[in-house]
Amino acid sequence: MNRPPIETDALVIGAGPVGLFQVFQLGLLGIQSHVVDSLPYPGGQCIELYPDKPIYDIPGTPRCTGRELTARLLKQVAPFAPPLHLSQVVTTLAKHPDGRFELQTSRGTTFVAKTIFIAAGVGAFAPRRLRIEGLDKYESASPNAPAQLFYALPSPADFAHKHVVIVGGDDTALRAVLQLADSGQTKSITLVHRRDVYQAAPELCAQVKTRIESAAVTFKVGQVTGFVEHNQRLTAASITDADGDTRSLRLDALVVLLGVSPKLGPVADWGLDMARKQVAVNTAEFSTSVPGIFAVGDINTYPGKKKLILCGFHEAALAAFGAANIVFPGQSTPLQYTTTSPRLHKLLGVDQSA
Ligand code: FAD
Repeated sequence: MNRPPIETDALVIGAGPVGLFQVFQLGLLGIQSHVVDSLPYPGGQCIELYPDKPIYDIPGTPRCTGRELTARLLKQVAPFAPPLHLSQVVTTLAKHPDGRFELQTSRGTTFVAKTIFIAAGVGAFAPRRLRIEGLDKYESASPNAPAQLFYALPSPADFAHKHVVIVGGDDTALRAVLQLADSGQTKSITLVHRRDVYQAAPELCAQVKTRIESAAVTFKVGQVTGFVEHNQRLTAASITDADGDTRSLRLDALVVLLGVSPKLGPVADWGLDMARKQVAVNTAEFSTSVPGIFAVGDINTYPGKKKLILCGFHEAALAAFGAANIVFPGQSTPLQYTTTSPRLHKLLGVDQSA
């Protein structure tokens, strides 16, 4: 059954730091928004690329990690309770017959929005895939054949009594190994990485080493170069080591965690003026060549552009004022201070008498 479209004042594409702050700025002006991100969690580059590295140039915050900044932004936007639509890419953007915009996501969600905020950073993050012909079909489940190929770790319960092979060597892969090992439900867990050194936090490396020493986990150096199937089911992965020797590794489930890579993808097809794969904007309100569509953060370009979080925050503030002219036509939008405005205190749910 087709779900009815979600109608909203604003749709923010991207839940990175700038997309999240955009929601806050829109909220202060009484503009309600929904947010879509291809990742299963908010935070964009801060969470995906440097969650535990410190940032030193957020105004008024001498030091915070990517993870901490994301948590603080989520707390800041909480009064506006923006619905987050995660693990889905906005694929199409078209003009709705009534002048609003209609957008579709890869999960079949449809939005009809008065304004759009493209906060898509360096593009939609998507998992790096194994490029082995014929393997992809094992990603889909059928009524009597569960999926066998995964690019994110499902619940450990889905792997009960199964031989599981995890491919990867970063934090995400090692966390998945530990989560499965600690669930105690699998028949076996084998970690496959192209080198015998991981690119992960030292404490995770140490914990995985302990599991390998206790034989709870097996480790193999090599890369997946092929697979074996029997009766339409995946039964083994072919693992080739640095010497070119290939061995079969029995499995019921293959979990590939080789990191993510950004793909600009659909944004480039939406008919917006672009300059070197960035969306061109004016700096008065960060609107694009299509009225009603704004672009903020790393995705945009203008003379003097710097890809810094604080620049994105400034852009988000001015873009929100630009959108107010569309959402509330004919009304002026005065600047109000969060310190002194009773209206903003009400919106933020803060008690000034405290
Ligand atoms: P992003 O953080 O890239 O978020 C964009 C989001 O949009 C992503 O989650 C993506 O999945 C999603 N998306 C894109 N297209 C779609 C689509 N079609 N559908 C659904 N979702 C989509 N900046 C600083 O100011 N200070 C620093 O110290 C600093 N350190 C850094 C260190 C590293 C290692 C890196 C890589 C960057 C650093 N930066 C730093 C840069 C900073 O992280 C970026 O400027 C910032 O993340 C940009 O935020 P954003 O919200 O515009 O985009």
